[in-house]
Amino acid sequence: MSAAPQTHTDTSHLLERRLRAETEGEVMFDLASRGRYATDASIYQAFPIGVLVPKSERDVTAAIDIARDMKLPILARGGGTSQCGQTTSGTALVIDNSKYLRDILELDTSRRRVTVQPGMVLDHLNAALKKHGLWYPVDVSTSAQATLGGMAGNNSCGSRSIAYGNMVHNVHGLSAWLSDGSAVDFGPLPNLSGKARDIALFVEALARSHAGEIAANFPKVMRRVAGYNLDIFDCQSERPYTTDNSVNLAHLLVGSEGTLAYTRSLTLNLSDLPRAKVLGVVNFPTFRAAMEAAQHIVKLGPTAVELVDRTMIELALANPAFRPTMQTALIGQPAAILLVEFSGESGAPLLPKLRRLVELMGDLGLPGSVVEMPDEARQKNLWEVRKAGLNIMMSLKGDGKPVSFIEDCAVPLEHLADYTDALTEVFARHGTRGTWYAHASVGTLHVRPILDMRRAGAEGGAVKMRAIAEEAAALVRKYKGAYSGEHGDGLCRGEWIEWQFGPKLNDAFRAIKQQLDPLNLFNPGKIIDPPKMDDGALFRFPPPGSPRPYQRLPLKTNLDWSDWNVQNDPVTEATTAPGTGGDVTGGFAMAVEMCNNNGHCRKFDAGTMCPSYRVTRDEQHVTRGRANTLRLALSGQLGPDAFTSEAIAESLDLCVSCKGCKRDCPTGVDMAKMKLEFQSHYKARHGFTLKDRLIAHLPDYAGTMSRLPWLANLRDRLPGAAWASEKLLGLSARRSLPRWRSDTFWQGRDQALYADAAKTLAAPKAAVLFVDTFNGYFEAENGHAAARVLHHAGYAVHVVEKGAGQSGGQHCCGRTYLSAGMIDQAREKVSALIDALLPFATAGIAIVGLEPSCLLTLRDEALSLGLGEKAKTVAAKALLLEEFLSAEAKAGRFAPKLKSVEQPILLHGHCHQKAFGAVPPILDVLKLIPGAKPELIDSSCCGMAGSFGFEAKHYDVSMQMAELSLLPAIRKAPEAILVADGTSCRHQIADGTRGDWSRHAIHVARLLESLLD
Ligand SMILES: Cc1cc2nc3c(=O)[nH]c(=O)nc-3n(C[C@H](O)[C@H](O)[C@H](O)COP(=O)(O)OP(=O)(O)OC[C@H]3O[C@@H](n4cnc5c(N)ncnc54)[C@H](O)[C@@H]3O)c2cc1C
Ligand code: SF4
Ligand code: SF4
Repeated sequence: MSAAPQTHTDTSHLLERRLRAETEGEVMFDLASRGRYATDASIYQAFPIGVLVPKSERDVTAAIDIARDMKLPILARGGGTSQCGQTTSGTALVIDNSKYLRDILELDTSRRRVTVQPGMVLDHLNAALKKHGLWYPVDVSTSAQATLGGMAGNNSCGSRSIAYGNMVHNVHGLSAWLSDGSAVDFGPLPNLSGKARDIALFVEALARSHAGEIAANFPKVMRRVAGYNLDIFDCQSERPYTTDNSVNLAHLLVGSEGTLAYTRSLTLNLSDLPRAKVLGVVNFPTFRAAMEAAQHIVKLGPTAVELVDRTMIELALANPAFRPTMQTALIGQPAAILLVEFSGESGAPLLPKLRRLVELMGDLGLPGSVVEMPDEARQKNLWEVRKAGLNIMMSLKGDGKPVSFIEDCAVPLEHLADYTDALTEVFARHGTRGTWYAHASVGTLHVRPILDMRRAGAEGGAVKMRAIAEEAAALVRKYKGAYSGEHGDGLCRGEWIEWQFGPKLNDAFRAIKQQLDPLNLFNPGKIIDPPKMDDGALFRFPPPGSPRPYQRLPLKTNLDWSDWNVQNDPVTEATTAPGTGGDVTGGFAMAVEMCNNNGHCRKFDAGTMCPSYRVTRDEQHVTRGRANTLRLALSGQLGPDAFTSEAIAESLDLCVSCKGCKRDCPTGVDMAKMKLEFQSHYKARHGFTLKDRLIAHLPDYAGTMSRLPWLANLRDRLPGAAWASEKLLGLSARRSLPRWRSDTFWQGRDQALYADAAKTLAAPKAAVLFVDTFNGYFEAENGHAAARVLHHAGYAVHVVEKGAGQSGGQHCCGRTYLSAGMIDQAREKVSALIDALLPFATAGIAIVGLEPSCLLTLRDEALSLGLGEKAKTVAAKALLLEEFLSAEAKAGRFAPKLKSVEQPILLHGHCHQKAFGAVPPILDVLKLIPGAKPELIDSSCCGMAGSFGFEAKHYDVSMQMAELSLLPAIRKAPEAILVADGTSCRHQIADGTRGDWSRHAIHVARLLESLLD
């Protein structure tokens, strides 16, 4: 039985009280918060004693003082994206720097140096440096979420490390607090004084006395990140730590995984941002040939040599979005490709390098094997495909997952081919397989065998992991490589430090720890005295036989999750039939467990995921935090009845159900759907509020209200009514509500535009227009406009309505009921709609909708409501107006005569349009307008998200979401025509621009209609 881990003790109570009294930071000691900080991107989990999110340096120093007083450990954390368990600890107070300690403290462009706080994210730093033509070149794949403090902690390295090195090669200075509370500046040896100098003298003496061991046992590869950098006085890396071979004491802390000191700030060496890049894609007939060629290719001076193997190529080719890009890189059917990048100040000098690559391949017996890509747009697309391949691999459903534990062993290039061959044999012997990718340039190929960490015994992940790790380690030793070449040690590789360096150097590492952190305050159990990597008690999914085996509590779900309820074959990766995975929650828990904590949802750049995190920067309000909270509840780790508890309600409260994660999360975590499932159980336990009922049943009473608009609109007219509605219903008084009107779509439509069912079914060009409640009752013009555009282009247009032929009103997709947690009612509504649409869909006629969240319900949630084949048939024909028109235009069936526009057109995509790839079609359609140059606003969710933004408790967050990029972009373009297809997006834009410069966005249908010639 899985028990709630480590509840409050007297000590933790005291710690919590002191932190609250003596710091201004956010202090979290509840089980759910601790659970959200119990994992990183590794296979491990341990509930920390508590969490502090410091608001200032003073908070950190106060926390260090309290911890020292109480003899409690501290664990500094950035993005929590470590792959080896560096940021998990069952005894420490976790201190999260990423929310507040994230500023640039000093930028010196002339010396090309920047000083930053530890919680600053790499991409954010590089965005700020771009205008100066500079960048920090340690380009880790997690650049959108990795913090500089965490990168230094792990001695991280990126795809271009062959050109720029690891963190250790690019850190100039580090200011840090020791466990006695003193602040020490670590930097170049001659500049040191006081405590820093004492430390340097101590380490130097240690290094000198271990010179023989250091020379013999430190791997000579650049990608060695294990242990402490005791070689700063006599660098063993093939790339010296400093350009002039001088000694820099800061390098001792790089890679120390928060075990020696707490980083306060980092001074980093910057590089010129390369202005030009060219790419050569080398196609290989065998994987081995690619591995053998890498050592020769690096001599040409590339900035990156990245591998994509056959499995990844096939994954990309199988994906319609990536196939065209991948095809441009291939010559025939290669077994592997190497992406060879050269970069510099300008393009011209790079072209000869590309030619030399072509010649080299000819010399190696592979003439005609290089696809030359001097064009940066094509290169960018290909890099995207390479990243996406990994994402697809990580999205494997079932309990077996690609596990990272030997994925960054580094071997000298001349042995790469033999090493990869031998490791492939090891995998085969253990009944699994690895997909190879990444940094061929530095001998660090990523590979993750598929293992089931939940299983015990010989077939279990722990046993296989140990066996594979031991055989891989023997290979690493044979080829004189580094066991830990990128991701650090943590819990996973700690035990291999002594194996790698020998007992004497291990003792020397211990002496360093003792000297800098005699109280063992900082991240104990990492690097020094680490546990066994396969200690099941430390796993996120402890197998049977562990003290606290992982379990899923039985749950009868209201939505169909059977697609996740599968198992997979570790060799072929084929999955079993839906519903056969053995999950007692029908696949819901398995869907939740898809989150592997990589932290991608913490990114801030383009894409939708995750608006609530972008506004709050809270782990509780990011997809990962929500998935972890759900997982812990579903497995009984948050106590009884946790799934319907306030802890879950709070973590899902700010989820705007934008479906950004469904599209952007590498493993496809679909939190919007999970929220629906939760909501239905939560409401079943706690009951519906008046507001829930009012919103859910809107489609039911809309007809009545539209007949009494003067009464229905009193809330926005009568003084005090808005205030009363806030008190009574929780609807924000600061919001206007949609205006009721009597001229609904259902009342006054031009019948000449419409065809009856029989004519529609017989017409050569036809479409069924699905007019939803919102467009039908509040914005009838949109429905009329769509009908006119379709009619004008020669389509027979049919509208399904209840009581057909008698203006009986709208059908409903069930969305308002779904959002409120009324799944049965939603099922009833959408089922009726599907029944009405079925004859047309069966006849191959498109179902065309206007409101993204309503139409796309047919393609998404309706398929999870147990409605069977009829739902699939309708879903297959359900299209947004722009999707339909774009496809028809491409097929030569839609070519309207439109007047031209002079004004710029700004487009805001509804989140669900983005999630379903329906934004490019609107751009396609807008481009049919002569003279139009539509521009897509680089926005996440508008913040309104159905009823979310109307609620008083969400108003501020809702407006902050709008202010992230949408409203600023609109303000910058006062002349532009604004196009937004979402009802709530249009409302948010109107509300957010209220006042002098009031702006109104329109549905694309209305723009097209207004331009019909
Ligand atoms: C999908 C994926 C891809 C990855 N790709 C790469 C890659 O290309 N290259 C690479 O090198 N790594 C990679 N990683 C690993 C990881 O992202 C990097 O190590 C990253 O730099 C960690 O940054 P973070 O902010 O998440 O650090 P965290 O995981 O939060 O912390 C890392 C370590 O630093 C310590 N630390 C953090 N802040 C401080 C501080 N203020 N003082 C002292 N110690 C501190 C922590 O205690 C911990 O030991 C990848 C991980 C994933 C999941
Ligand atoms: S929710 Fe998705 S993106 Fe976020 S950490 Fe989990 S797997 Fe990564
Ligand atoms: S649905 Fe949107 S708000 Fe909710 S977790 Fe996913 S990305 Fe975040």
